[in-house]
Amino acid sequence: MRFNELNLNKDILDAIKKAGYEEATPIQEKSIPVMLAGRDMIGLAQTGTGKTAAFALPILEMLEPRRKNQIRALVLSPTRELAIQTFENFKKYGRYRKLRTVCLYGGAKKGNQINALYRGCDILVATPGRLIDLANEGHFTLDHIQILVLDEADRMLDMGFLPDMKRITAMIPETRQTVMFSATMEKK
Ligand code: AMP
Repeated sequence: MRFNELNLNKDILDAIKKAGYEEATPIQEKSIPVMLAGRDMIGLAQTGTGKTAAFALPILEMLEPRRKNQIRALVLSPTRELAIQTFENFKKYGRYRKLRTVCLYGGAKKGNQINALYRGCDILVATPGRLIDLANEGHFTLDHIQILVLDEADRMLDMGFLPDMKRITAMIPETRQTVMFSATMEKK
């Protein structure tokens, strides 16, 4: 399926074109309409299938250009590498959109990350530990989150992040849209 059949704005289609993508991958073709309809969703997808764009494109599409300094979408990633990669993708797909993405992860100084938050953040990509740490320090609130993505949820469970994931979801309004991507589907 071509991207222009997926009800995306021209500035997003232009960014996709600039990225050199021609056709949507199967996970993109299936996820994008469900997310745009505002529904909760579980996507079964491995890395390398285009799952990042499958959630990033509808988030960029759905969020109004920035108003106040309100974080409206949160993507939780199991590792710093995945968080950075996802952040880079948001920048790539959102290059013509007036939305700011900030990335938080452990193992790096907090100062730069805190400064980025204060410069403005619409979309937050974060690993669970650093997110909780900085939230507890009072640098931001998750009260305005409209869309929550749990990326590689199975890996987050394997890494023992379940208590952190519960703590984080408890900080987010229940009215949010929740989307989960996982390579496997475990009972947990
Ligand atoms: P991901 O599974 O999100 O890590 O994406 C894997 C790779 O596929 C990344 O290098 C993306 O830039 C690329 N990619 C994502 N969607 C498409 C697409 N529709 N067409 C071609 N490449 C894509």
